[in-house]
Amino acid sequence: MADRCIYCGMEIEGKGATRKIDGEEINFCSQHCAVMFEGLEKKGRMKAAIMAERAEIISRLEDERGTKVITLIHRREPWEEKDDSHINIEDTEHVLMRIRQTPEDRDVDLILHTPGGLVLASEMIAMAVKNHPSKVTVIIPFYAMSGGTLIALAADEIIMEKDSVLGPVDPQLGGIPAGALISLLEKKPAENISDDNIMLSEEARKSLIRVQKMVMWLLEDKMDKGKAEKLAEFLTGGYMTHDTPIVFDVAKGFGLKVREGIPKGVYDLFRTFEFGACTRPQYARY
Ligand SMILES: [Zn+2]
Repeated sequence: MADRCIYCGMEIEGKGATRKIDGEEINFCSQHCAVMFEGLEKKGRMKAAIMAERAEIISRLEDERGTKVITLIHRREPWEEKDDSHINIEDTEHVLMRIRQTPEDRDVDLILHTPGGLVLASEMIAMAVKNHPSKVTVIIPFYAMSGGTLIALAADEIIMEKDSVLGPVDPQLGGIPAGALISLLEKKPAENISDDNIMLSEEARKSLIRVQKMVMWLLEDKMDKGKAEKLAEFLTGGYMTHDTPIVFDVAKGFGLKVREGIPKGVYDLFRTFEFGACTRPQYARY
């Protein structure tokens, strides 16, 4: 395989440019990249090298699968001190842009690894996944909880391992499950509940209905209506704790189109991330 530029990740055609940096001869695709790389601080160089490696792994995966590969991976970056990864609006813009840039007739692989995050951000990505005219496959090597599961429900197919997990998609308001807030009104007389909690439970009711409708819409072209309604109710109704793992066999039993076997390249990609202080699924906010 042709060498790739450590700065931009492009294949090096012809001679390229060589520089001696920290005693090591490094090849670049152009003088431009050599100068840019040389000008970076140590951490910046580390980032550039890792990003270029990822670009290479992703382009190999794309060649292998004939797809456009997009990633939404929440793990600590090696060049960052700390990590507070969850699905946020910046992610949405990044993923939406990638999906929009993909030609309508090109299949998409979305590699997903997340504890969840903002409801709106997840919903926007889920809509884009469902609306892409060609096949979208969501690939889950480890977990895609709450908002991540919502995105997976939008896909034409989910590839996971036997022990990869999805989770319930019931909304959480201020860290409290919507179902628990709603049931508070049935458990206590209204005069014994604070105004704040009464208002919060009203919001919880609206938010739950909204997510339920969303899930039904995501599922309606994948199974019959009655089944989609029941599954939407089960996944959003607060019957399980928010960190309950939904493994391959259970997802299959739900009637979701799941397939086993993560492509090896996906694991190569994960080697470029750190394990670390990233938010674990049990703290998922949605
Ligand atoms: Zn370059």
